[in-house]
This record gives sequence, structure tokens and C-alpha cells, in this order.
Amino acid sequence: MTDLLSTRVKALELPMTIEMSKKSRELAAKGIDVISLSLGEPDFDTPDFIKEAAIQGIRDNYSHYMPVPGYNDLREAIAGKFKRDNNLEYGIDQIVVSTGAKQTLANLMLSLIEPGDDVIVPAPYWVSYVGMIEFCEGNPVVIPTTVESGFRITPEQLEAAITPKTKLMVFSSPNNPSGAMYSQEDLEGIAAVLRNHPDVFIISDEIYEHIRYTTDHVSIASIEGMYDRTATVNGLSKGFAMTGWRIGYMGCPAWLAKACDKIQSQFTSGTSSISQRAAIAAVAAKPSEVQYMVDAFASRRKLMIETFGTLPGFVTRNPDGAFYMFADITALLGKKFGDVVIENDLDLSMYFLTEGHVSSVPGSAFGLPGHVRFSYAASEEDLKEAHRRLENAINQLS
Ligand code: PMP
Repeated sequence: MTDLLSTRVKALELPMTIEMSKKSRELAAKGIDVISLSLGEPDFDTPDFIKEAAIQGIRDNYSHYMPVPGYNDLREAIAGKFKRDNNLEYGIDQIVVSTGAKQTLANLMLSLIEPGDDVIVPAPYWVSYVGMIEFCEGNPVVIPTTVESGFRITPEQLEAAITPKTKLMVFSSPNNPSGAMYSQEDLEGIAAVLRNHPDVFIISDEIYEHIRYTTDHVSIASIEGMYDRTATVNGLSKGFAMTGWRIGYMGCPAWLAKACDKIQSQFTSGTSSISQRAAIAAVAAKPSEVQYMVDAFASRRKLMIETFGTLPGFVTRNPDGAFYMFADITALLGKKFGDVVIENDLDLSMYFLTEGHVSSVPGSAFGLPGHVRFSYAASEEDLKEAHRRLENAINQLS
């Protein structure tokens, strides 16, 4: 009966992390305590003022179908946030709220990509971009970066990757998995290239905007000439510890918002009414109200730099944002544990799990083999213990 499946879905790959999670569960079932540094979600609960807004929403009977692109007052609050934080003016007809930034991204890709279109994706990239592009029958054109280049593409790399078939570029800053951020100057360089290619559209994924340590966040849409050709994607999962509430949103040209609204109206309708009521409180809140989470991440980041950053065979770059450390581990490839050779990042990540009891995600999952990602959305105690275990595991390699 699997013959009934569409070619499209047969070609869709499961995230590479599945095997790792399976192994991790197997170890846990045997009573082994695995420290999980593979997760992409804050280890905080949703702040109380947001929960209260949701409870009030339930009491006020927000239990009916809602406008597909989101309640007007939520979209007005989002317009206010874009103005306050990003210097971007979006009217509510330019804003669509969706079931997580994931659906926002899927709506955009489905709206923009024609079969055979080239889509530029700087690597390391967030796992789902490429899956979505391929599902839309687009052709991902991956631009690799290195720890030395700060995991950021250069204008020259971008220029060289653009072809007459290039439709789109999608990237995240702050970046998952590397924590790299594009500065105003970096984005000016990218915009200068794109100005010569007016038909290339940009999806700028800014979901980690509030979690940053070293530099201001700049939206590429705020750079001259970019506003009309950019979709600025954001969401509440990371900055407000609301992964389970499923709120993503974007600001973009009205013609594109209309297309995404159309897709969403056929597939899912608007996202949960209660989550939307809660979202108004989150979006309207000053970033200072969630600063305590950023402060905790900043302290863990410091610990990561001092510990993971100095592990033998690791070359790292201090993350500017998000809550990940992405290590170049090529120096450890070819080493042996007994008779077993660590051939690649997948083997190393699996070795860290089976021998060190620390879960991580291999760089291949993000389009950049030879690296491993560690999340520091974990307690300092766990991070210290994970470091001890990894050091031990690495020292056993010959
Ligand atoms: N973009 C990036 C870069 C992410 O890391 C994530 C979550 N891991 C998402 C988008 C999707 O977030 P959500 O669907 O929870 O809003």
C-alpha cells in the first residue's frame, strides 16, 4: 500500500536527529542518565503574565473560529513590535500569524517556490529549510561557511551562488545552530549584492532575536531597498519560552501575506484562539520582561566558552545569539575508540551519546558536516557534568 504515497512525501526525509533520539530513549530506558544537549527549546516555563492573558482569553470565550491571519488586535500588537524593535512599518494586512514559525516558513515557501527554482541557503542552516524547499520541488543551493568566517557568508559567496534561476534566499540571524549574527555592516554587504539581482526574494528568520549577547539585532528588511522583497519571520517559541503554544508570525509585502493567508485558510485556518490571546501579552511586553531568561543563557554561554570551548579537538566560535555552541570537530575525525573509527560527525555525536551519555546533534543535520551542535538550554550543573563526560570520552580516543 505504500505505493499510494505521493512522490513528494516519499522524497521527504526525516530529520537526522531521529536516530539519535531513538538511541537516547533506549539508553534512558536502561536507566542510564543521559544529559540532553540536543534540544532546541528553552528550559524555562512560559512567564506568568502570558499565562494570565491566556486564562483571561478562555474566560472571555475566545473559543470560536478566528480570522485566518490572526485577530486584528494581535496583528496590531505585532505591527507595534516590528516598529519598536526592528524599525519596520507593517500594516496589519502585511502580517500573518501562524501555527509556529514553522508554518510561517512553510506558507512562504509554498507561496514563492516554483518547481526547479534555486533557493540559496547559507549553511549551517535550520534543519527544516531544506526539507521544505525540496517538498516545494525547489533546488537548495547551499553556501557553506566555516568557524573562521564566523559561520557567516560573504557578499562574494552570495554573488557566486546566484543564477538566473535563483528565486529566494533563506537564512536565520541569530543562527540556529551556530549562534552567529549578521551585523548591520554584514547585512549592508549582502544587500549590496541583492540590489543587483532584483528578482531574488529574502526570507529572514529572526526567531532568536531576543536571545543575544554581543551585538544589536538588525532586520535585513530595514536596509535600503530590501523592505519590498523580504519576509521578516519571527515567533514566540524561543524568546518567550512558548514552544508548545505554536505562535509564529511575519511581516511582508501585502501580496505575499494574502497568498499565505490563502494557503493557511485551506490547510489549517488561524492558529489557536487561546494562544493568540496569550501572544498579545507577549508581543506587547518590553523585551526587558524576559531579560531574566537571556541573563541565564548569557551565564551558561560564558560557562560553555570556558568549558566546551576548550575541549581537546574542538574549535569553536563564541556565539552571538541563540543558545547553541557549534564546534568544528574535524580534528577528532579518524580517531579510534578501540577498533571503531570515528569517521564523521554522526559517528562522533553517536559516540558522545553511547560512551559519554551526552546527546548532541551532528552538523550534517544542518548542512555542515564536521561539526557538532550542543544546546545550552540546560542547567549549569548539567553543562558542567556534560563537559566532564565529554572530556573523558575524548581522552579515550586514540
Ligand atoms: N526557525 C528556527 C531557526 C528555529 O530554530 C525554529 C525552532 N527550532 C523555528 C524556526 C520554528 O519555531 P516554531 O515553529 O516553534 O515557532
